Amino acid sequence: MMLLILFLTASALAAPQDAFFPKCGYKSCHKTKDGFINVHIVAHTHDDVGWLKTVDQYYYGSKTNIQKAGVQYILDSVMEELKRDSNRRFIYVETAFFWKWWMKQHDFVKNQVRKFVNNGQLEFIGGAWSMNDEAVTHYQSIIDQFTWGLRKLEDTFGKCGRPKVGWQIDPFGHSREMASIFAQLGFDGLLLGRIDYQDKKFRFTTRTPEMVWRSSANLGESSDLFTSVMYNTYSPPPGFCFDVLCDDEPIIDDKKSDDYNVPKRFKEFLDYVKEQRFSYATNNLIVTMGGDFTYMDANFWFKNIDKLISYGNELQKNGSKYNLIYSTPSCYLKAVHDEGEKRNLQWKVKTDDFFPYASDPNAYWTGYFTSRPTIKRFERVGNNFLQICKQLYALTDLGPEDGIDLNALREAMGVMQHHDAITGTEKEHVAHDYSRILDRGIEKCGIVVEEALNRLITNRKESELKFDSCPLLNVSQCDSTENHKTFVVTIYNPLSRNVTKYVRLPVKGSAYKVQNSEEELKVQLVPIHQGVLNIPGRESEATKELIFQDSIPALGFKSFYVSEVPGDIVSKEESVKKLDKKPILLKIDERTGMLFEITMNGKTIPLQQNFGYYRGAVGDNDSFQNRSSGAYIFRPNGTDTFTITDNATYKLYLGAHVTELHQTFSNWVTQTIKVYAKQNHVEFDWVIGPIPIDDVNGKEIISRYTTNLKSESTFYTDSNGREMLKRVRDFRPSWKLNLQETISGNYYPVTSRILLRDASNDIEMAIVTDRAQGGSSLADGELELMIHRNCMHDDAFGVGEALMEEAFGTGLVVRGSHHLVVGPYLKSDGISSYERQLLQEKVLDAWTFITPTNLSFVHYKNQYKMKYSGLTQNLPDNVQILTLEPWKGNSYLLRLEHIFEKGEDKNLSTPVSVNLKDLFTAFKLKSFKETTLGANQLLGESKRLQFRTGSSLDDLVDMYDFYEPVDEQEDENWIKGKQAYRTSEFDANDINFHVMDTLEEDTDRFQITLLPMQIRTFVIEIKRYT
Ligand SMILES: [Zn+2]
Repeated sequence: MMLLILFLTASALAAPQDAFFPKCGYKSCHKTKDGFINVHIVAHTHDDVGWLKTVDQYYYGSKTNIQKAGVQYILDSVMEELKRDSNRRFIYVETAFFWKWWMKQHDFVKNQVRKFVNNGQLEFIGGAWSMNDEAVTHYQSIIDQFTWGLRKLEDTFGKCGRPKVGWQIDPFGHSREMASIFAQLGFDGLLLGRIDYQDKKFRFTTRTPEMVWRSSANLGESSDLFTSVMYNTYSPPPGFCFDVLCDDEPIIDDKKSDDYNVPKRFKEFLDYVKEQRFSYATNNLIVTMGGDFTYMDANFWFKNIDKLISYGNELQKNGSKYNLIYSTPSCYLKAVHDEGEKRNLQWKVKTDDFFPYASDPNAYWTGYFTSRPTIKRFERVGNNFLQICKQLYALTDLGPEDGIDLNALREAMGVMQHHDAITGTEKEHVAHDYSRILDRGIEKCGIVVEEALNRLITNRKESELKFDSCPLLNVSQCDSTENHKTFVVTIYNPLSRNVTKYVRLPVKGSAYKVQNSEEELKVQLVPIHQGVLNIPGRESEATKELIFQDSIPALGFKSFYVSEVPGDIVSKEESVKKLDKKPILLKIDERTGMLFEITMNGKTIPLQQNFGYYRGAVGDNDSFQNRSSGAYIFRPNGTDTFTITDNATYKLYLGAHVTELHQTFSNWVTQTIKVYAKQNHVEFDWVIGPIPIDDVNGKEIISRYTTNLKSESTFYTDSNGREMLKRVRDFRPSWKLNLQETISGNYYPVTSRILLRDASNDIEMAIVTDRAQGGSSLADGELELMIHRNCMHDDAFGVGEALMEEAFGTGLVVRGSHHLVVGPYLKSDGISSYERQLLQEKVLDAWTFITPTNLSFVHYKNQYKMKYSGLTQNLPDNVQILTLEPWKGNSYLLRLEHIFEKGEDKNLSTPVSVNLKDLFTAFKLKSFKETTLGANQLLGESKRLQFRTGSSLDDLVDMYDFYEPVDEQEDENWIKGKQAYRTSEFDANDINFHVMDTLEEDTDRFQITLLPMQIRTFVIEIKRYT
């Protein structure tokens, strides 16, 4: 026995140290030197998960005629170079690519890579599936794609593979919610590449490119995130790109050579670093060495960086105070932190966000908020279905986790979040490839969903019923409803409470009977708007939609038996000229067919809605002033908007469920305005396109809502679908804005909601969107959203194509919807709570499945379950299950979120507790462990670096007037904007807000509490009821 133990110990000692005593993380950082300027050289590659080439073309390095870039070679090459010298460091970011490469490696290589991870030579940064965009992405999908990327790293490398720093170096502006997510992931900080050029200049002048970002108005100091804006985005110093793709001179260190250039090259490097030094507050500086798809031949870089470091540090003997080290973003961050602690530095606090992003006076990156609107919608549909797929997987016992069928959509959604995917800034062929990837993911998840629904409905293990998702419902087309006289509609509701669902199905018949398991339902048939019937690619004979309504149980479904019957109940055109669906009243101008007044929630205001367009600027992109409007940049040619028409032709249809106004503005702009009996909002369902290409400017289409609300230059937009941020026209809260582009410079990302307020009359008007769009309020009382765009020219930011989308041999046609809510907001019965519910219902819509059947209703009802809920009871109105999915082995991932902000609603903006134990009908919880947001670390074990905070940046703006003298008028405007910004903060309603005590938690009894906007993540073990 004794001998055996000795033997084991001896063998352990003989094994490579790194495997047993990993020295990763901050322990593996090269030492900095006190009294020196420490230059942190970070070797990195930026690998877009699709852009000019598709994901696979980038991975394999094909299509070199488009771009020389092959990720597989990068990873192969870097690993070889790390072997040569353990001082070398490299970071990797995009887990989608890393995983593709890892899966194909021999065990020998895998072991080698593990060693690099364990000794800190290879560090994962960011670590999500892709480097997501921050403007047009939804928080649910950002959290998902981080969870998936971090999990792959954790499963493969353990603790040493766990990223600690956010690396958002290329996205075009930065959201506050993203920073909040990083804080909740347990990250120590965030590095950014792109911020507004004026903001950047201000920060570099005041030495404040590094700050603490208080990233949530609700979560307080726990959302603080140290944030650093880099000096040269993510590029190397000019002249120091040592890549096979670059032309810069190598370091030639043979003194006998005529080309010997060490002193000259090092001086150039030092000149750059010295300049950088005066923009930052500490003696640590980060210098990025890499770029897009660099390191395909990593030897070029490492060999030259080795020399730079070695010669640079040799000069210390001669009194040089510069110390060069191989470093990583986290080692840099740690050094800054430690120096800050030593010197008692107080970091300025930022509370706003980094939108919109401008790279020069005429380049506002606000076009991509809308570019490729159908991809933006498809991505949202993908999230909707992924959540349903994951929930159904968890609710039914589909066997061990890691079903390939589920992962395809997880990964497709991760790819879609990339900053050249959902943004619409990729080439057209790449956009098609994204759609293909997403479509395949949805198809695979369809297999999971069909199997799960079969288990719930038939109670058998083999699938016998088909569930058709009718993917073309967006053009009112569905084979299963059109070509069958009897079929079953199963509606699945992914929300944590019952929803009232209006089901709309394209049909050919003129009368139908609809029954749920208990009763026959009232039905309505409405003609489909001609504008929809005309959508190119629509292959359907259905000319009307069957509508019925019912309540669908939480995390569950209800089935409806539908049969065509004799008769004709299709709504006929009416002669009355108002949409009166009590309590909502919309008045229409009989002559023009346009809205002019709305009454809703007891408030009556004038309301006009119309479509218009901007003409895009056209130039050769040679100078700022000659910038064209393009996929990234929105730059109208002047400030005029052009209306399509002031006279729409129209038809009105009344009915028990819905009253509809069908408007036709032109042969490429139509709209159906819908008011449902049991919904407290108005739906604007528009169809735009093909946009005429009869001019050189292109047209960027907006829908504008005009009222008399006194909004005082102020409006609000959401941050990634979650917290609201205040916007003031022609103003930025943390620097003095000098605005030349008065339209596009006031555009902000609207992921899901934009709103206006009139405090003197207590009226709010909000619009909830079905996808991300750019939006603004360019005049008081007015909201506009850009819904489609056609740019005839490239804007010279790399994509190299004009944004002129085509489908079915003609310009792209887009259909979408806005949901309008008007009402009071100051009193306790304000409309905020309705808006939050509406947001939830739009993001996680109840899903329609069709099963054609030959069975009679009675047979079907006797044979199959027609109603199911996965929850034993509805969750409280302010709580939602954000995630329920199979996790590892027999465990599941459960996330709960509080969906209200502080002060939004008197009753619902309060702490709420939930008992998890008997929440689900399919299983009960045996145990649960709380983790960080990414589920890759126990919450109790997560310790983030703390950075001392000082005053806010606003104070700095007040004190420091670095601008050249501005004329009086401009300054006054700015001061006016500042006053508007500071008064009437979003959460400063006159609701009496009660003390925010945490409610009593009792983890033994599975009782947990959520505070406003809090998300809590649990890994749960369950016992299924059989
Ligand atoms: Zn990029």
